[in-house]
Amino acid sequence: MQQVRNFCIIAHIDHGKSTLADRFLEYTGTIEKNKIREQMLDSMDLERERGITIKLQPVHMKYHLDGVDYELNLIDTPGHVDFGYEVSRSLAAVEGAILLVDSTQGIQAQTLANLAVAQKHNLTIVPVVNKIDLPAAEPEKVAFELADLLKCDPDSVIPASGKSGLGLDEILKRVVHAIPQPQQEINAPLRALVFDSQFNSYRGVIAHVRIMEGSIKAGENVVMMANGKTFTVEEVGVMTIDHKPVEKLEAGDIGYIVTGFKRVADCRVGDTITHVSGRATAPLEGYRQPQPMVFASLFHSDGDTTALRTALEKLSANDASITFEPHYSDAFGSGFRVGFLGLLHLEIIKERLEREYNQDLVITTPVVAHTGDAMNGYEEPWVKAEIITQPAYIGGIMELAESHRGIYLSLQYIGEHLEDKNTTAILEYEFPLSEIIINFSDQLKSVSAGYASFSYDLIGYRAGKLVEMNILIAGDKVAPFTQIVPVSQAEARGRELTKRLKELIPKQMFEISIQATIGARVVARETVSAMRKDVTSKLYGGDVTRKNKLLDKQKEGKKKMKQMGKVSLPTNVFLEALKPKSY
Ligand code: GDP
Ligand code: MG
Repeated sequence: MQQVRNFCIIAHIDHGKSTLADRFLEYTGTIEKNKIREQMLDSMDLERERGITIKLQPVHMKYHLDGVDYELNLIDTPGHVDFGYEVSRSLAAVEGAILLVDSTQGIQAQTLANLAVAQKHNLTIVPVVNKIDLPAAEPEKVAFELADLLKCDPDSVIPASGKSGLGLDEILKRVVHAIPQPQQEINAPLRALVFDSQFNSYRGVIAHVRIMEGSIKAGENVVMMANGKTFTVEEVGVMTIDHKPVEKLEAGDIGYIVTGFKRVADCRVGDTITHVSGRATAPLEGYRQPQPMVFASLFHSDGDTTALRTALEKLSANDASITFEPHYSDAFGSGFRVGFLGLLHLEIIKERLEREYNQDLVITTPVVAHTGDAMNGYEEPWVKAEIITQPAYIGGIMELAESHRGIYLSLQYIGEHLEDKNTTAILEYEFPLSEIIINFSDQLKSVSAGYASFSYDLIGYRAGKLVEMNILIAGDKVAPFTQIVPVSQAEARGRELTKRLKELIPKQMFEISIQATIGARVVARETVSAMRKDVTSKLYGGDVTRKNKLLDKQKEGKKKMKQMGKVSLPTNVFLEALKPKSY
Protein backbone atom coordinates (compact mmCIF):
# COMPACT_ATOMS: atom_id res chain seq x y z
CA MET A 1 0.00 0.00 0.00
CA GLN A 2 1.19 3.49 -0.91
CA GLN A 3 2.69 5.33 2.07
CA VAL A 4 1.27 8.85 2.42
CA ARG A 5 1.83 11.56 5.02
CA ASN A 6 -0.30 14.70 5.09
CA PHE A 7 0.83 17.56 7.28
CA CYS A 8 0.85 21.32 7.80
CA ILE A 9 3.38 23.72 9.17
CA ILE A 10 1.81 26.02 11.76
CA ALA A 11 3.43 28.86 13.69
CA HIS A 12 3.17 32.48 14.68
CA ILE A 13 3.87 34.95 11.85
CA ASP A 14 7.56 35.13 10.83
CA HIS A 15 8.67 32.08 12.81
CA GLY A 16 9.96 30.54 9.59
CA LYS A 17 7.25 28.29 8.10
CA SER A 18 7.72 29.22 4.46
CA THR A 19 11.51 29.08 4.76
CA LEU A 20 11.37 25.60 6.26
CA ALA A 21 9.03 24.59 3.44
CA ASP A 22 11.76 25.74 0.98
CA ARG A 23 14.21 23.32 2.61
CA PHE A 24 11.69 20.48 2.23
CA LEU A 25 11.27 21.27 -1.47
CA GLU A 26 15.03 21.22 -1.92
CA TYR A 27 15.75 18.19 0.21
CA THR A 28 13.12 16.03 -1.47
CA GLY A 29 14.29 17.13 -4.92
CA THR A 30 10.84 18.59 -5.67
CA ILE A 31 12.70 21.56 -7.00
CA GLU A 32 16.34 21.93 -7.96
CA LYS A 33 18.46 23.79 -5.48
CA ASN A 34 19.52 26.47 -7.95
CA LYS A 35 15.91 27.12 -9.00
CA ILE A 36 14.61 27.78 -5.54
CA ARG A 37 13.55 31.28 -4.56
CA GLU A 38 13.19 32.26 -0.94
CA GLN A 39 9.76 31.44 0.49
CA MET A 40 8.98 29.66 -2.75
CA LEU A 41 5.45 28.80 -1.70
CA ASP A 42 4.55 32.45 -1.25
CA SER A 43 3.65 32.59 -4.91
CA MET A 44 1.57 35.77 -4.97
CA ASP A 45 3.45 39.01 -5.70
CA LEU A 46 1.75 40.55 -2.74
CA GLU A 47 3.03 37.82 -0.44
CA ARG A 48 6.56 38.27 -1.70
CA GLU A 49 6.53 42.05 -1.37
CA ARG A 50 5.14 42.01 2.14
CA GLY A 51 7.09 38.94 3.17
CA ILE A 52 4.01 37.27 4.56
CA THR A 53 1.96 34.23 3.66
CA ILE A 54 -1.67 35.02 2.92
CA LYS A 55 -2.87 31.82 1.31
CA LEU A 56 -2.57 28.24 2.39
CA GLN A 57 -0.41 26.44 -0.16
CA PRO A 58 -0.31 22.69 -0.69
CA VAL A 59 2.69 20.95 -2.20
CA HIS A 60 3.33 17.32 -3.09
CA MET A 61 6.77 15.75 -2.52
CA LYS A 62 8.38 12.35 -2.74
CA TYR A 63 10.63 11.06 0.03
CA HIS A 64 12.59 7.87 0.46
CA LEU A 65 13.59 6.51 3.86
CA ASP A 66 14.95 3.08 4.84
CA GLY A 67 13.78 1.43 1.65
CA VAL A 68 10.27 2.90 1.76
CA ASP A 69 8.82 5.47 -0.67
CA TYR A 70 6.61 8.11 0.86
CA GLU A 71 4.29 10.63 -0.74
CA LEU A 72 4.39 13.77 1.37
CA ASN A 73 1.65 16.37 1.14
CA LEU A 74 2.65 19.54 2.93
CA ILE A 75 0.40 22.56 3.41
CA ASP A 76 2.14 25.82 4.24
CA THR A 77 -0.14 28.17 6.18
CA PRO A 78 -0.27 31.89 7.06
CA GLY A 79 0.47 33.04 10.62
CA HIS A 80 -1.43 36.31 10.99
CA VAL A 81 -4.64 36.21 13.02
CA ASP A 82 -6.66 37.57 10.07
CA PHE A 83 -5.90 34.42 8.08
CA GLY A 84 -6.88 31.88 10.71
CA TYR A 85 -9.56 30.49 8.41
CA GLU A 86 -6.85 29.39 5.97
CA VAL A 87 -5.16 27.54 8.81
CA SER A 88 -8.27 25.82 10.11
CA ARG A 89 -9.18 24.59 6.61
CA SER A 90 -5.68 23.23 6.12
CA LEU A 91 -5.75 21.43 9.45
CA ALA A 92 -8.96 19.62 8.51
CA ALA A 93 -7.21 18.08 5.49
CA VAL A 94 -4.21 16.51 7.26
CA GLU A 95 -3.17 14.07 10.01
CA GLY A 96 -0.27 15.99 11.50
CA ALA A 97 1.28 19.41 12.03
CA ILE A 98 4.80 20.67 12.49
CA LEU A 99 4.52 23.27 15.23
CA LEU A 100 7.33 25.72 14.69
CA VAL A 101 8.53 28.17 17.33
CA ASP A 102 11.21 30.76 16.69
CA SER A 103 13.82 30.15 19.39
CA THR A 104 14.63 33.86 19.63
CA GLN A 105 10.95 34.80 20.15
CA GLY A 106 9.44 31.93 22.07
CA ILE A 107 5.81 30.93 22.16
CA GLN A 108 3.42 33.58 20.86
CA ALA A 109 -0.28 34.15 20.43
CA GLN A 110 -0.70 32.41 17.08
CA THR A 111 1.41 29.50 18.32
CA LEU A 112 -1.26 28.84 20.91
CA ALA A 113 -4.23 29.69 18.72
CA ASN A 114 -3.10 27.38 15.91
CA LEU A 115 -2.08 24.62 18.29
CA ALA A 116 -5.54 24.70 19.86
CA VAL A 117 -7.14 24.16 16.43
CA ALA A 118 -4.68 21.37 15.59
CA GLN A 119 -5.49 19.61 18.86
CA LYS A 120 -9.21 19.94 18.17
CA HIS A 121 -8.61 18.01 14.95
CA ASN A 122 -6.62 15.39 16.91
CA LEU A 123 -3.52 15.99 14.82
CA THR A 124 -0.13 14.53 15.67
CA ILE A 125 2.13 17.43 16.62
CA VAL A 126 5.81 17.52 15.65
CA PRO A 127 7.36 20.24 17.86
CA VAL A 128 10.31 22.16 16.40
CA VAL A 129 12.32 25.11 17.73
CA ASN A 130 13.55 27.07 14.75
CA LYS A 131 16.26 29.63 13.90
CA ILE A 132 18.79 28.08 16.26
CA ASP A 133 21.53 29.50 13.99
CA LEU A 134 20.87 32.96 15.47
CA PRO A 135 23.05 34.16 18.37
CA ALA A 136 19.99 35.24 20.38
CA ALA A 137 18.45 31.76 20.16
CA GLU A 138 17.39 30.10 23.40
CA PRO A 139 16.51 26.62 22.13
CA GLU A 140 16.56 24.86 25.52
CA LYS A 141 14.29 27.35 27.19
CA VAL A 142 11.83 27.43 24.30
CA ALA A 143 11.89 23.62 24.04
CA PHE A 144 11.11 23.43 27.74
CA GLU A 145 8.12 25.73 27.39
CA LEU A 146 6.88 23.92 24.31
CA ALA A 147 7.17 20.61 26.16
CA ASP A 148 5.19 22.06 29.05
CA LEU A 149 2.47 23.14 26.63
CA LEU A 150 2.34 19.80 24.81
CA LYS A 151 2.91 17.66 27.91
CA CYS A 152 5.84 15.96 26.23
CA ASP A 153 9.55 15.44 26.92
CA PRO A 154 11.70 18.53 26.12
CA ASP A 155 14.14 16.15 24.41
CA SER A 156 11.49 15.30 21.85
CA VAL A 157 11.43 18.90 20.60
CA ILE A 158 13.59 19.09 17.47
CA PRO A 159 16.11 21.95 17.25
CA ALA A 160 16.32 23.27 13.69
CA SER A 161 17.22 26.07 11.33
CA GLY A 162 15.20 26.61 8.21
CA LYS A 163 17.98 28.82 7.00
CA SER A 164 20.88 26.35 7.24
CA GLY A 165 18.83 23.18 6.94
CA LEU A 166 19.97 21.94 10.34
CA GLY A 167 17.55 19.43 11.85
CA LEU A 168 15.77 18.82 8.55
CA ASP A 169 16.63 15.13 8.49
CA GLU A 170 15.23 14.64 11.94
CA ILE A 171 12.04 16.55 11.15
CA LEU A 172 11.35 14.47 8.03
CA LYS A 173 12.04 11.22 9.89
CA ARG A 174 9.67 12.28 12.65
CA VAL A 175 7.03 13.24 10.08
CA VAL A 176 7.00 9.77 8.53
CA HIS A 177 7.35 7.87 11.83
CA ALA A 178 5.05 9.85 14.12
CA ILE A 179 2.31 11.12 11.81
CA PRO A 180 -0.10 8.31 10.99
CA GLN A 181 -0.76 6.97 7.53
CA PRO A 182 -4.20 8.31 6.46
CA GLN A 183 -7.21 6.01 6.38
CA GLN A 184 -7.36 4.51 2.90
CA GLU A 185 -10.83 3.20 2.25
CA ILE A 186 -10.42 3.15 -1.48
CA ASN A 187 -13.46 1.01 -2.17
CA ALA A 188 -15.93 3.16 -0.24
CA PRO A 189 -18.07 5.72 -2.13
CA LEU A 190 -16.08 8.83 -3.02
CA ARG A 191 -15.96 11.70 -0.55
CA ALA A 192 -13.55 14.51 -1.41
CA LEU A 193 -13.31 17.58 0.84
CA VAL A 194 -12.85 20.86 -1.06
CA PHE A 195 -10.46 22.75 1.22
CA ASP A 196 -9.56 25.48 -1.26
CA SER A 197 -10.19 26.49 -4.83
CA GLN A 198 -8.88 28.81 -7.45
CA PHE A 199 -10.22 30.30 -10.62
CA ASN A 200 -8.31 29.85 -13.85
CA SER A 201 -9.51 31.79 -16.89
CA TYR A 202 -8.87 28.87 -19.25
CA ARG A 203 -9.85 25.92 -17.12
CA GLY A 204 -12.48 27.38 -14.81
CA VAL A 205 -12.65 26.45 -11.15
CA ILE A 206 -9.91 24.16 -9.89
CA ALA A 207 -10.81 22.52 -6.58
CA HIS A 208 -8.09 21.61 -4.09
CA VAL A 209 -9.23 18.48 -2.35
CA ARG A 210 -8.43 15.92 0.28
CA ILE A 211 -9.84 12.54 -0.72
CA MET A 212 -11.32 11.09 2.46
CA GLU A 213 -12.75 7.90 0.93
CA GLY A 214 -12.95 6.29 -2.50
CA SER A 215 -11.09 7.45 -5.60
CA ILE A 216 -11.55 9.79 -8.55
CA LYS A 217 -10.35 9.87 -12.19
CA ALA A 218 -10.68 12.13 -15.21
CA GLY A 219 -13.86 11.49 -17.20
CA GLU A 220 -15.98 10.50 -14.21
CA ASN A 221 -19.30 12.17 -13.45
CA VAL A 222 -19.39 13.73 -10.03
CA VAL A 223 -21.64 15.98 -7.98
CA MET A 224 -21.17 18.74 -5.41
CA MET A 225 -23.21 17.44 -2.48
CA ALA A 226 -24.33 20.82 -1.07
CA ASN A 227 -25.74 22.40 -4.22
CA GLY A 228 -26.31 19.37 -6.43
CA LYS A 229 -24.24 20.75 -9.34
CA THR A 230 -22.68 18.03 -11.47
CA PHE A 231 -19.63 18.02 -13.69
CA THR A 232 -17.39 15.66 -15.61
CA VAL A 233 -13.89 15.61 -14.16
CA GLU A 234 -11.53 17.12 -16.72
CA GLU A 235 -8.30 16.28 -14.93
CA VAL A 236 -6.99 15.24 -11.53
CA GLY A 237 -3.48 15.80 -10.27
CA VAL A 238 -1.13 16.82 -7.49
CA MET A 239 0.35 20.18 -6.64
CA THR A 240 4.04 20.09 -7.19
CA ILE A 241 5.14 23.64 -7.83
CA ASP A 242 2.86 23.51 -10.86
CA HIS A 243 -0.18 21.36 -11.36
CA LYS A 244 0.91 17.85 -12.31
CA PRO A 245 -1.80 15.56 -13.74
CA VAL A 246 -2.04 12.01 -12.35
CA GLU A 247 -4.18 9.08 -13.40
CA LYS A 248 -6.25 9.04 -10.23
CA LEU A 249 -6.51 10.35 -6.72
CA GLU A 250 -7.55 8.01 -3.94
CA ALA A 251 -8.41 7.99 -0.25
CA GLY A 252 -5.66 9.70 1.74
CA ASP A 253 -4.43 11.84 -1.17
CA ILE A 254 -4.33 15.60 -1.45
CA GLY A 255 -4.62 16.98 -4.96
CA TYR A 256 -6.65 19.02 -7.40
CA ILE A 257 -9.67 18.46 -9.60
CA VAL A 258 -10.35 20.53 -12.71
CA THR A 259 -14.12 21.02 -12.60
CA GLY A 260 -14.70 23.09 -15.71
CA PHE A 261 -17.17 25.21 -13.72
CA LYS A 262 -17.21 28.78 -14.93
CA ARG A 263 -19.07 30.01 -11.90
CA VAL A 264 -17.18 30.10 -8.66
CA ALA A 265 -20.35 29.70 -6.60
CA ASP A 266 -20.81 26.22 -8.06
CA CYS A 267 -17.81 24.84 -6.16
CA ARG A 268 -17.82 26.12 -2.62
CA VAL A 269 -14.99 25.54 -0.19
CA GLY A 270 -16.09 23.02 2.45
CA ASP A 271 -18.37 21.09 0.08
CA THR A 272 -18.00 17.35 -0.58
CA ILE A 273 -17.54 15.90 -4.07
CA THR A 274 -18.95 12.42 -4.72
CA HIS A 275 -19.82 10.28 -7.75
CA VAL A 276 -23.18 10.71 -9.45
CA SER A 277 -23.68 6.94 -9.38
CA GLY A 278 -22.49 5.21 -6.24
CA ARG A 279 -23.09 8.41 -4.33
CA ALA A 280 -21.94 8.79 -0.71
CA THR A 281 -24.84 8.90 1.73
CA ALA A 282 -23.72 11.94 3.73
CA PRO A 283 -21.39 14.85 3.03
CA LEU A 284 -18.29 15.52 5.14
CA GLU A 285 -18.59 18.00 7.95
CA GLY A 286 -17.17 20.89 5.92
CA TYR A 287 -16.40 24.28 7.40
CA ARG A 288 -18.26 26.88 9.34
CA GLN A 289 -18.14 30.17 7.42
CA PRO A 290 -16.00 32.48 9.55
CA GLN A 291 -17.74 35.56 10.92
CA PRO A 292 -16.57 38.84 9.45
CA MET A 293 -14.93 41.17 11.98
CA VAL A 294 -15.07 44.43 10.04
CA PHE A 295 -17.18 45.78 7.22
CA ALA A 296 -16.46 48.36 4.59
CA SER A 297 -18.25 49.39 1.43
CA LEU A 298 -16.46 49.06 -1.87
CA PHE A 299 -17.30 51.07 -4.98
CA HIS A 300 -15.82 51.04 -8.43
CA SER A 301 -14.53 54.55 -9.02
CA ASP A 302 -16.17 54.67 -12.46
CA GLY A 303 -19.34 53.11 -11.14
CA ASP A 304 -18.75 49.81 -12.99
CA THR A 305 -20.67 47.65 -10.53
CA THR A 306 -20.76 44.63 -12.84
CA ALA A 307 -16.99 44.50 -13.15
CA LEU A 308 -16.61 44.82 -9.40
CA ARG A 309 -19.14 42.06 -8.78
CA THR A 310 -17.31 39.71 -11.17
CA ALA A 311 -14.00 40.51 -9.50
CA LEU A 312 -15.43 39.89 -6.03
CA GLU A 313 -16.94 36.60 -7.15
CA LYS A 314 -13.69 35.36 -8.65
CA LEU A 315 -11.66 36.47 -5.70
CA SER A 316 -14.01 34.74 -3.32
CA ALA A 317 -13.12 31.45 -5.04
CA ASN A 318 -9.62 31.97 -3.79
CA ASP A 319 -10.59 33.53 -0.46
CA ALA A 320 -13.67 31.85 0.89
CA SER A 321 -13.76 34.09 3.94
CA ILE A 322 -15.00 37.25 2.26
CA THR A 323 -18.71 37.96 2.22
CA PHE A 324 -20.41 40.65 0.19
CA GLU A 325 -23.82 42.02 -0.61
CA PRO A 326 -25.02 44.90 -2.80
CA HIS A 327 -25.05 48.24 -1.07
CA TYR A 328 -26.23 51.67 -2.14
CA SER A 329 -24.75 54.88 -0.80
CA ASP A 330 -25.89 58.44 -1.53
CA ALA A 331 -22.29 59.47 -1.76
CA PHE A 332 -20.94 56.76 -4.05
CA GLY A 333 -23.88 55.09 -5.73
CA SER A 334 -24.05 51.30 -6.14
CA GLY A 335 -21.39 49.12 -4.64
CA PHE A 336 -20.93 46.28 -2.18
CA ARG A 337 -20.79 45.95 1.54
CA VAL A 338 -17.96 43.53 2.19
CA GLY A 339 -17.11 41.63 5.38
CA PHE A 340 -13.46 41.02 6.28
CA LEU A 341 -11.67 39.07 8.99
CA GLY A 342 -9.61 42.09 10.06
CA LEU A 343 -7.89 45.21 8.78
CA LEU A 344 -4.92 43.40 7.25
CA HIS A 345 -7.35 41.15 5.42
CA LEU A 346 -9.17 44.24 4.15
CA GLU A 347 -5.94 45.80 2.90
CA ILE A 348 -4.94 42.60 1.16
CA ILE A 349 -8.31 42.15 -0.53
CA LYS A 350 -8.32 45.74 -1.70
CA GLU A 351 -4.85 45.33 -3.17
CA ARG A 352 -5.71 42.03 -4.80
CA LEU A 353 -8.81 43.52 -6.41
CA GLU A 354 -6.73 46.38 -7.73
CA ARG A 355 -3.83 44.26 -8.98
CA GLU A 356 -5.32 40.98 -10.04
CA TYR A 357 -8.64 42.34 -11.29
CA ASN A 358 -7.72 45.88 -12.33
CA GLN A 359 -10.34 47.49 -10.15
CA ASP A 360 -10.04 51.15 -9.32
CA LEU A 361 -11.70 51.27 -5.93
CA VAL A 362 -13.23 53.64 -3.46
CA ILE A 363 -13.46 52.12 -0.02
CA THR A 364 -15.28 53.48 3.00
CA THR A 365 -14.06 53.58 6.58
CA PRO A 366 -14.02 50.07 8.02
CA VAL A 367 -16.38 49.54 10.95
CA VAL A 368 -17.39 46.70 13.22
CA ALA A 369 -20.98 45.57 12.89
CA HIS A 370 -23.48 46.69 15.51
CA THR A 371 -27.02 45.63 16.12
CA GLY A 372 -29.82 47.82 17.42
CA ASP A 373 -30.46 51.54 17.00
CA ALA A 374 -30.24 54.84 18.87
CA MET A 375 -33.76 54.49 20.30
CA ASN A 376 -33.48 51.01 21.75
CA GLY A 377 -29.75 50.94 22.38
CA TYR A 378 -26.89 49.32 20.54
CA GLU A 379 -25.25 45.96 20.96
CA GLU A 380 -21.66 45.43 19.91
CA PRO A 381 -19.54 42.34 19.21
CA TRP A 382 -17.14 41.09 21.91
CA VAL A 383 -14.11 38.88 21.63
CA LYS A 384 -12.10 36.69 23.93
CA ALA A 385 -8.43 37.53 23.55
CA GLU A 386 -5.22 35.80 24.56
CA ILE A 387 -2.21 38.02 25.08
CA ILE A 388 1.17 36.33 25.30
CA THR A 389 4.01 38.20 26.96
CA GLN A 390 6.79 38.13 29.54
CA PRO A 391 6.19 38.87 33.23
CA ALA A 392 7.93 42.26 33.12
CA TYR A 393 5.26 43.70 30.82
CA ILE A 394 2.14 42.37 32.50
CA GLY A 395 1.48 45.59 34.45
CA GLY A 396 1.62 47.82 31.40
CA ILE A 397 -0.53 45.47 29.39
CA MET A 398 -3.17 45.32 32.12
CA GLU A 399 -3.38 49.11 32.13
CA LEU A 400 -3.70 49.15 28.37
CA ALA A 401 -6.41 46.49 28.50
CA GLU A 402 -8.38 48.46 31.07
CA SER A 403 -8.27 51.59 28.98
CA HIS A 404 -9.81 49.54 26.18
CA ARG A 405 -12.75 48.32 28.29
CA GLY A 406 -11.07 44.94 28.75
CA ILE A 407 -12.48 42.46 31.28
CA TYR A 408 -9.76 40.43 32.97
CA LEU A 409 -10.25 36.65 32.95
CA SER A 410 -6.99 34.93 33.89
CA LEU A 411 -3.21 34.89 34.02
CA GLN A 412 -1.17 31.72 33.53
CA TYR A 413 2.47 30.89 33.03
CA ILE A 414 4.04 28.36 30.69
CA GLY A 415 7.17 26.56 31.94
CA GLU A 416 6.65 28.05 35.40
CA HIS A 417 9.33 25.96 37.06
CA LEU A 418 12.06 27.37 34.85
CA GLU A 419 15.07 28.72 36.77
CA ASP A 420 15.03 32.21 35.30
CA LYS A 421 11.89 34.25 35.71
CA ASN A 422 11.54 35.05 32.04
CA THR A 423 8.78 32.54 31.53
CA THR A 424 5.96 33.12 29.09
CA ALA A 425 2.73 34.54 30.48
CA ILE A 426 -0.74 34.12 28.98
CA LEU A 427 -3.29 36.80 29.83
CA GLU A 428 -6.91 36.25 28.95
CA TYR A 429 -9.32 39.13 28.51
CA GLU A 430 -12.66 39.93 27.00
CA PHE A 431 -12.86 43.06 24.85
CA PRO A 432 -15.39 44.84 22.70
CA LEU A 433 -14.13 44.09 19.19
CA SER A 434 -14.12 47.80 18.32
CA GLU A 435 -11.54 48.42 21.03
CA ILE A 436 -8.91 46.10 19.62
CA ILE A 437 -9.43 46.07 15.89
CA ILE A 438 -7.75 49.42 15.27
CA ASN A 439 -4.45 50.57 16.82
CA PHE A 440 -4.50 48.08 19.69
CA SER A 441 -1.68 45.92 18.34
CA ASP A 442 0.53 49.02 17.91
CA GLN A 443 -0.10 50.08 21.47
CA LEU A 444 0.50 46.56 22.72
CA LYS A 445 3.82 46.54 20.92
CA SER A 446 4.88 49.78 22.53
CA VAL A 447 3.95 48.85 26.12
CA SER A 448 5.73 45.50 25.78
CA ALA A 449 8.80 46.57 23.81
CA GLY A 450 7.57 44.17 21.13
CA TYR A 451 7.35 41.19 23.51
CA ALA A 452 3.62 40.67 23.28
CA SER A 453 1.29 39.22 20.72
CA PHE A 454 -2.40 38.57 20.75
CA SER A 455 -5.15 36.64 19.06
CA TYR A 456 -8.89 36.68 19.53
CA ASP A 457 -12.19 34.99 18.73
CA LEU A 458 -15.69 36.43 18.55
CA ILE A 459 -17.87 35.41 21.49
CA GLY A 460 -21.12 37.30 20.84
CA TYR A 461 -22.97 40.60 21.14
CA ARG A 462 -23.46 42.65 24.30
CA ALA A 463 -25.30 45.87 25.06
CA GLY A 464 -23.02 48.89 25.27
CA LYS A 465 -23.19 52.62 25.91
CA LEU A 466 -22.72 53.70 22.33
CA VAL A 467 -23.55 56.82 20.37
CA GLU A 468 -23.51 57.85 16.74
CA MET A 469 -20.70 60.22 15.82
CA ASN A 470 -20.86 62.13 12.54
CA ILE A 471 -18.20 63.96 10.62
CA LEU A 472 -19.12 67.22 8.90
CA ILE A 473 -16.79 68.52 6.24
CA ALA A 474 -17.47 72.14 5.21
CA GLY A 475 -20.76 71.79 7.06
CA ASP A 476 -21.94 68.70 5.16
CA LYS A 477 -22.29 65.34 6.84
CA VAL A 478 -20.02 62.79 5.17
CA ALA A 479 -21.96 59.58 5.68
CA PRO A 480 -19.11 57.11 5.19
CA PHE A 481 -17.42 58.50 8.30
CA THR A 482 -20.40 58.01 10.58
CA GLN A 483 -19.42 55.69 13.38
CA ILE A 484 -21.00 54.13 16.40
CA VAL A 485 -18.55 54.76 19.25
CA PRO A 486 -18.47 54.15 23.00
CA VAL A 487 -19.70 57.23 24.88
CA SER A 488 -16.57 57.20 27.00
CA GLN A 489 -14.36 57.55 23.94
CA ALA A 490 -16.41 59.71 21.63
CA GLU A 491 -14.42 62.86 22.23
CA ALA A 492 -11.02 61.27 21.94
CA ARG A 493 -12.00 59.47 18.74
CA GLY A 494 -13.52 62.63 17.33
CA ARG A 495 -10.32 64.55 17.98
CA GLU A 496 -8.13 61.89 16.50
CA LEU A 497 -10.25 61.50 13.40
CA THR A 498 -10.57 65.22 12.68
CA LYS A 499 -6.82 65.61 13.14
CA ARG A 500 -6.08 62.80 10.72
CA LEU A 501 -8.55 64.17 8.20
CA LYS A 502 -6.88 67.55 8.37
CA GLU A 503 -3.65 65.89 7.26
CA LEU A 504 -5.35 63.87 4.54
CA ILE A 505 -7.57 66.49 2.94
CA PRO A 506 -5.67 68.58 0.39
CA LYS A 507 -6.02 72.34 0.51
CA GLN A 508 -8.68 73.73 -1.77
CA MET A 509 -9.67 77.20 -2.95
CA PHE A 510 -11.55 77.90 0.27
CA GLU A 511 -11.18 77.18 3.97
CA ILE A 512 -12.64 73.80 5.00
CA SER A 513 -13.96 73.04 8.46
CA ILE A 514 -13.86 69.48 9.79
CA GLN A 515 -16.16 68.76 12.70
CA ALA A 516 -16.99 65.67 14.74
CA THR A 517 -20.52 65.84 16.15
CA ILE A 518 -22.74 63.83 18.45
CA GLY A 519 -26.31 64.92 17.90
CA ALA A 520 -26.07 68.72 17.81
CA ARG A 521 -22.91 68.85 19.93
CA VAL A 522 -19.54 69.48 18.26
CA VAL A 523 -16.92 67.35 20.05
CA ALA A 524 -13.90 68.21 17.92
CA ARG A 525 -12.99 70.66 15.19
CA GLU A 526 -10.11 71.27 12.80
CA THR A 527 -9.66 73.60 9.83
CA VAL A 528 -7.86 73.11 6.52
CA SER A 529 -6.74 76.56 5.38
CA ALA A 530 -7.38 77.77 1.84
CA MET A 531 -4.90 77.25 -0.99
CA ARG A 532 -3.12 80.48 -1.88
CA LYS A 533 -2.78 80.49 -5.65
CA ASP A 534 -4.10 78.95 -8.78
CA VAL A 535 -1.89 76.00 -9.53
CA THR A 536 -1.04 77.23 -13.05
CA SER A 537 -0.52 80.90 -12.23
CA LYS A 538 3.21 80.37 -11.67
CA LEU A 539 3.45 79.18 -15.24
CA TYR A 540 1.44 81.95 -16.71
CA GLY A 541 2.77 82.75 -20.13
CA GLY A 542 5.37 80.09 -19.65
CA ASP A 543 6.09 76.79 -21.31
CA VAL A 544 2.87 75.30 -22.68
CA THR A 545 3.96 71.67 -22.49
CA ARG A 546 4.85 72.08 -18.87
CA LYS A 547 1.54 73.70 -18.24
CA ASN A 548 -0.33 70.89 -20.00
CA LYS A 549 1.65 68.32 -18.08
CA LEU A 550 0.65 69.95 -14.85
CA LEU A 551 -2.99 69.99 -15.89
CA ASP A 552 -2.79 66.37 -16.92
CA LYS A 553 -1.36 65.54 -13.57
CA GLN A 554 -4.21 67.36 -11.94
CA LYS A 555 -6.70 65.42 -14.03
CA GLU A 556 -4.99 62.20 -13.06
CA GLY A 557 -5.31 63.30 -9.46
CA LYS A 558 -8.99 64.16 -10.00
CA LYS A 559 -9.80 60.65 -11.10
CA LYS A 560 -8.99 59.51 -7.61
CA MET A 561 -11.07 62.29 -6.04
CA LYS A 562 -14.67 62.13 -4.94
CA GLN A 563 -16.92 65.16 -4.69
CA MET A 564 -18.56 65.23 -1.25
CA GLY A 565 -20.83 68.28 -1.06
CA LYS A 566 -18.63 71.31 -1.71
CA VAL A 567 -15.38 69.48 -1.15
CA SER A 568 -13.51 66.92 -3.23
CA LEU A 569 -11.77 64.22 -1.22
CA PRO A 570 -9.08 61.79 -2.35
CA THR A 571 -10.72 58.39 -2.42
CA ASN A 572 -8.12 56.83 -0.18
CA VAL A 573 -9.09 59.17 2.68
CA PHE A 574 -11.73 56.77 3.92
CA LEU A 575 -9.34 53.90 4.42
CA GLU A 576 -6.39 56.06 5.48
CA ALA A 577 -8.32 57.95 8.13
CA LEU A 578 -8.90 54.92 10.31
CA LYS A 579 -5.94 52.83 9.37
CA PRO A 580 -3.58 51.78 12.14
CA LYS A 581 -0.01 52.96 11.71
CA SER A 582 1.24 49.47 10.98
CA TYR A 583 0.32 45.84 11.28
P1 GDP B 1 6.67 32.56 8.08
O1 GDP B 1 5.90 33.84 8.26
O2 GDP B 1 6.51 31.69 9.29
O3 GDP B 1 6.37 31.85 6.80
O4 GDP B 1 8.22 32.96 8.05
P2 GDP B 1 9.21 33.08 6.82
O5 GDP B 1 9.63 31.74 6.35
O6 GDP B 1 8.63 34.02 5.83
O7 GDP B 1 10.47 33.72 7.56
C1 GDP B 1 10.42 34.94 8.25
C2 GDP B 1 11.81 35.54 8.30
O8 GDP B 1 12.69 34.76 9.12
C3 GDP B 1 12.48 35.62 6.94
O9 GDP B 1 13.20 36.83 6.90
C4 GDP B 1 13.42 34.43 6.93
O10 GDP B 1 14.55 34.64 6.11
C5 GDP B 1 13.84 34.33 8.39
N1 GDP B 1 14.15 32.95 8.79
C6 GDP B 1 13.37 31.86 8.61
N2 GDP B 1 13.96 30.76 9.13
C7 GDP B 1 15.16 31.16 9.64
C8 GDP B 1 16.23 30.48 10.32
O11 GDP B 1 16.22 29.28 10.57
N3 GDP B 1 17.30 31.24 10.70
C9 GDP B 1 17.37 32.57 10.46
N4 GDP B 1 18.44 33.22 10.86
N5 GDP B 1 16.37 33.24 9.83
C10 GDP B 1 15.27 32.55 9.43
MG1 MG C 1 5.00 32.08 5.45
